[in-house]
Amino acid sequence: NDFSDIDLGEIIQLNIQHSRYDRPTPVQKYAIPIVRGKRDLMACAQTGSGKTAAFLLPILSQIYENGPGKIPEQVNSSGNQSRYSRRKHFPLGLVLAPTRELASQIYDEARKFSYRSHVRPCVVYGGADVGTQMRDLDRGCHLLVATPGRLVDMMERGKVGMDQIKWLVLDEADRMLDMGFEPQIRRIVEQDTMPKTGIRQTLMFSATFPKEIQMLARDFLDNYIFLAV
Ligand code: AMP
Repeated sequence: NDFSDIDLGEIIQLNIQHSRYDRPTPVQKYAIPIVRGKRDLMACAQTGSGKTAAFLLPILSQIYENGPGKIPEQVNSSGNQSRYSRRKHFPLGLVLAPTRELASQIYDEARKFSYRSHVRPCVVYGGADVGTQMRDLDRGCHLLVATPGRLVDMMERGKVGMDQIKWLVLDEADRMLDMGFEPQIRRIVEQDTMPKTGIRQTLMFSATFPKEIQMLARDFLDNYIFLAV
């Protein structure tokens, strides 16, 4: 009933203490061991349940445990990117969120938890300068938090590739569908370079579980655990 009961690594435990989280919420208590146990997850959880830390903590702790190896990147030989570096980045984790506000909240929480570790989160969303976001990616990106439209844009510019994704999270999946993001989401998840189900680990969070979400879960998840809190 305490975060120290969960194996998350020393720096992340310290960062949790600094965030003044004393004990895990129910979704954290159940989801963190499932994620660390490499299972796919469909979780029905509301905003305010602590769902953000429920997926960030186990992903960041596993990236952290893998040590400060070089983040995969590649130099594009072609492409019209003269104003930015030609480097293409391959994050290990991807979190898709419906809005700029939610994406920045997730990013802020990821920054808190990865403070003083080598793990570097980035965020990209629409309605803000692409160049600034690309320059931030150039400083390295283990975990990318993104809204679907801006991520498709970054992929088309050759700035990010999905080839190395080990963890894929769809946060507030029902809201993303309500906002009409299904084509962009499918474009991202179903492209050739994205590791397949069973190779990557996929987590879906949704407040509701209607037919459309069940179909996404069927398409994106592999032998998943269903969690309702
Ligand atoms: P979320 O449901 O992820 O949007 O989180 C809702 C709010 O609860 C956020 O402000 C979190 O920082 C906070 N929170 C999440 N988990 C905990 C916890 N275990 N203890 C205290 N606060 C928490």
